[in-house]
Amino acid sequence: MITKKKDIRALSKEDLRAFFVGIGDKEFRGNQVFEWLWSKGAHNFEDMTNISLQTREVLKEHFVINHIEVDHLQKSADGTIKNAVKLFDGLVVESVLIPTATRTTACVSTQVGCSLDCKFCATARLKIMRNLNPDEIYDQVKAIDKESRLYHSRPLSNIVFMGMGEPLMNYNNVLKSIDKITSEEGLAMSPKRITVSTSGVPKMIKKLADDEVKFNLAVSLHSAIQETREQIMPFAKKFTLTDLKESLEYWYEKTNRRITYEYVVWEGINDAAEDINALAKFCKYVPSKVNLIEYNPIDDGEFRQASSQITNNYIAALEKNRIPVTVRRSRGKDIDAACGQLANKQ
Ligand code: SAH
Repeated sequence: MITKKKDIRALSKEDLRAFFVGIGDKEFRGNQVFEWLWSKGAHNFEDMTNISLQTREVLKEHFVINHIEVDHLQKSADGTIKNAVKLFDGLVVESVLIPTATRTTACVSTQVGCSLDCKFCATARLKIMRNLNPDEIYDQVKAIDKESRLYHSRPLSNIVFMGMGEPLMNYNNVLKSIDKITSEEGLAMSPKRITVSTSGVPKMIKKLADDEVKFNLAVSLHSAIQETREQIMPFAKKFTLTDLKESLEYWYEKTNRRITYEYVVWEGINDAAEDINALAKFCKYVPSKVNLIEYNPIDDGEFRQASSQITNNYIAALEKNRIPVTVRRSRGKDIDAACGQLANKQ
C-alpha cells in the first residue's frame, strides 16, 4: 500500500532524535527507535516493545516502515538461494545468497531494471524502472544474513553489489546503504568484505575516490578494445575506455586499492590474440586482478562462451604479465540466479 506518510527509515538518527524532542519526548527515544529500525530490523511499530504504546501511536500517525517482502525463495542444487524481493510499491527485484565452504556471499540489486544496455545481460532488457532506496538495499542484505544463519548456520560474510542495476547510477542510495551495513547500528560489517561492481562510469568512479570509500571496486570490462566494447556494451560510446582508464588511475592514486576486472570470453567477440594482449595491457595501468566469469546464456545463442582453450590462453597471457587471474564458476544456474540472469522470470 502506498501512503503519503513518510518512510521513517529515510530519517537519520539525528533526524529521529530531533523528532522526539519536537514532540516533547526525550532525545534518547530516537536512538531506541533507530536501533529497532536497523539492527533489530523491525517491520512494524508494534514490535518496538520498549517504546510506550502512546508513542508508538504517534509514530504510526506520522510514518510508515516501507520494508521489503521476500516473496519467493528458490534453492539451487548447489546451495545458492534466489530471493524474489517485493518492494512496497509492488515492483520486484532479485537477490542471491551464494554459499561456499567458508563463506556466504550476498549478491544484491540496486535498481529495478537497469539503465545500461549490455547486450549479454538479462537485466538490461528490463529497462530502468526506478532506483532502490537505501533501506531496500539494506533489507536485501539483512534478509540474506537471516537465511545464511538459518540454512548454513553462520552469518553472512561478504556482499557483492552485482545484482540487478548499475550501482553507480544510484550512487547516493548505494553509499547510504553501505553506511548502514557497516555501521554498529546496522550489520557492523567491514567494508573490506563489500565489493561494488560497475560497468564503468568514469565520473562516478572518481567520485568514489573523492568520497574515500573503503569498499572494493570491480569493473565489468569484457573488452579492452574500444570498438569491441561498444558493440557489446553500447553505453561505452559515452563512457570510453580512455576515460575509464583515467578514472581508475585516479581511484588508485587516492585509495591505493587494486581493481578487479570482470571478464567473459565469447566466441568470435573477444577470443583473438589481440583481445588478450589488449587486456594484459589494460591491466598494467593500475594494480589489478582479473576474474574470468563463465557465460550464462540468456537467449537464442547470439553470445557463446569461448572454448576452454581460449580461456587458458587468457590465463597464460595474464600470468606471464604477473596479473592475478581467477576463474569464477557459475552458481545457481538451474534457478536463473547466476550473473546476468536476474530478470524476474516468475
Ligand atoms: N551493472 C554492474 C552490476 C551488475 S554485476 C556491472 O555491470 O558491474 C553483474 C555482472 O555479471 C557483471 O560483471 C556483468 O557484466 C556480468 N554479466 C552480465 N550478464 C552476464 C551473463 N549472461 N553471463 C555472465 N556474466 C554476466
